[in-house]
Amino acid sequence: MHSNSRHSDHRHHGGDREVRVWIFAEKDEELLLQSHRRPGHWDASAVAASISDYESSLQAARRLVQSELGINLPTDAFELVSSSPLKQPQGGESENVLNNDVYLVTTLEPIPLQAFTLQVKKGPGSVKYMTYNEYKNLVGQNDPAYVQPPDIASEYAKLFAILTKRYQEDRDRCSTLHKQLQRYAPVSLTAQLSGLSDGDKEALGFIIKAAKAIDEIFFHQVLDTNALLRDWLQGRAAGDDASQLDHLKWDYYVINKSPWSSLDENEAFLTTKDSAIKLATAATKPVEGWKGLEYRVALSSNKPPGANFYPLDMSKKEFESWKSRLPESQQKEAQGFFTVIRRQSETNPDLYIVPYSQQYDSSLTKAAEFLHKAGDLATTPSLKKLLHTKADAFLSNDYYESDIAWMDLDSKIDVTIGPYETYEDSLFGYKATFESFIGIRDDEATGRIKMFGENMLKLEQNLPMDDQYKSTNVNVSPIRVIQLIYNSGDVDGPQIAAFNLPNDERIVNDRGTSMVMIKNIQEAKFEKILKPIADICINNEQKELVDFDSFFTHITCHECIHGIGPHTITLPDGSTSTVRQELQEFHTVLEEAKADIVGLWALRFFISQGLLPKSMLETMYVSFLATCFRSVRYGLQDAHGKGQAVQFNWLFEKQAIVLHSDDETFSVDFTKVEEAVESLSKEILTIQAKGNKQGAIALLQKYGQITKPLQLGLDKLEKIQVSVDIALSFPIADETLKN
Ligand SMILES: [Zn+2]
Repeated sequence: MHSNSRHSDHRHHGGDREVRVWIFAEKDEELLLQSHRRPGHWDASAVAASISDYESSLQAARRLVQSELGINLPTDAFELVSSSPLKQPQGGESENVLNNDVYLVTTLEPIPLQAFTLQVKKGPGSVKYMTYNEYKNLVGQNDPAYVQPPDIASEYAKLFAILTKRYQEDRDRCSTLHKQLQRYAPVSLTAQLSGLSDGDKEALGFIIKAAKAIDEIFFHQVLDTNALLRDWLQGRAAGDDASQLDHLKWDYYVINKSPWSSLDENEAFLTTKDSAIKLATAATKPVEGWKGLEYRVALSSNKPPGANFYPLDMSKKEFESWKSRLPESQQKEAQGFFTVIRRQSETNPDLYIVPYSQQYDSSLTKAAEFLHKAGDLATTPSLKKLLHTKADAFLSNDYYESDIAWMDLDSKIDVTIGPYETYEDSLFGYKATFESFIGIRDDEATGRIKMFGENMLKLEQNLPMDDQYKSTNVNVSPIRVIQLIYNSGDVDGPQIAAFNLPNDERIVNDRGTSMVMIKNIQEAKFEKILKPIADICINNEQKELVDFDSFFTHITCHECIHGIGPHTITLPDGSTSTVRQELQEFHTVLEEAKADIVGLWALRFFISQGLLPKSMLETMYVSFLATCFRSVRYGLQDAHGKGQAVQFNWLFEKQAIVLHSDDETFSVDFTKVEEAVESLSKEILTIQAKGNKQGAIALLQKYGQITKPLQLGLDKLEKIQVSVDIALSFPIADETLKN
């Protein structure tokens, strides 16, 4: 997402990059100015002419401040505020395009001027502080005493804008944060523990403690200084003089587990202004009576694409070129799920590989101890095995055996814990974040879904598409349904209600994958989100047909449907390909739409086979209609959102969905819906089977739009505040962790 905007891509071409540093004191909102070359010629930006091949831009920034101003500042004081190409006129016609990394350092008080050991030629009196407003005006008026920045339109204006926004009224921020928080409905999750053996019940306490231990790792994986930030915000909110803003910041941070807001495409809701204060005592020249430099730990407004898996200032290019020089086995490690990439040292910026077992040693040792204790206490054999093998994996960094044990888990207590998903690494998608989901298996619901699995081949044979495209074997993941009692780690922002693991290809190839559906999260989302949406959008006479059972059965079926239909296909010229390869960027949207609409078609099929109750015949369609509005609300850039728009518009065009103009509500025409669902299923399955990219584009262009009726529904939702997601609390785990 941000991969090219934040980081220089030119590390190995010295001379075409420039780094600039601004130093800002919060107290009177002043910028540090230094006189530039000629006396009386002031500039707020300390400039390094170029960055050498052998240093990162962050190192160059530190070197610059050291050499120009004679002060040492810690690495975490530097906030990368922009990284953009800067056109620098060089005289004549030639123009050199520079890549311009700009850093901002924020201190509380101005740095005493005696602290600077300035370059000899500059002499005393060559630094001063000035409020940024005054400075902005002088530069704007072309005052001859101030350097005219090379490209005022970009860098300087941008920095002035950042500072203005950052130090604006707290009142505006309170109302913004309040609105952001309001989108999450609070939900407390619990489950029946009565079916557990005494040993398993005792083990559960230690499992929860292990899950808590790995939560700490996730904070560190997102951002190096995240734990410091968390403790700072919590301390502020707990203080006697805590303001409303302090509380809001903390509450919203707890949901996002970082300074970036998940529901707002990771836009920062905290800035360096909100960040922890650190004291650098040894960092500067001693000045009598001065305790040292208090500075704000830098928070970047963009979420770093490589999270804390890679050095902040490492570019994709640098990684690739370093990797290509490694022996093959190490290349695999470098791209592996369970390693981080670091720089050797301040003076030697070379990259190297650190395994998770070493990087997160203290948390993993703690978690492993808890899991071994739990494994000793547990009485269910497959649970015992999982707990011990997982504990071993934490220390050995080899997760294979523990993932096999997870696939084989057949236990009332359901445990998923370890490094799994790679979404946080948006630079490469290599590195796995730690997460945990601890729950109690719902045997009844798990049993019902087993029926789906057993009938998937039959379903494939009956799919509404040409027989020539049908497969004779299908691959369906077994599904376990649980009631969640605790989650931790990578569960920030919107709550995960289902997951399919592992991602490790070795196990996927050997054993396939397993899926876990979290029923009480689905229930909470149904109550807090889908119900209120149905209340507004569904016509009165059909409102009571929106029910949880249909909703839950459909999403479960959706997951199974991903396993059937065209995947590996034969092209007209006889060659073999995959749907993903042929449809490329349109594949995900189409595949999600397929899982939804064919899932709906499949429910009808199962009812006709006597495998699902007839009572679902109407409820499933109306519940589906309500989910359309829920998904489209996430926007058309979201694969599920766009996929749902296609389905809504198709069904609307076929008059299977009816708009009641009197109260602007919608209902399902049961006489038309079956045929419309079947025709769209056939359309999508056939596009996939043929690998017909043009067909996919045409379908999405015509139907993947916010049409008038869809907009009508969305507008209604906009008017009343329906929650977008839920924020969880876990009373059972809270009780356990207190002891
Ligand atoms: Zn899906």
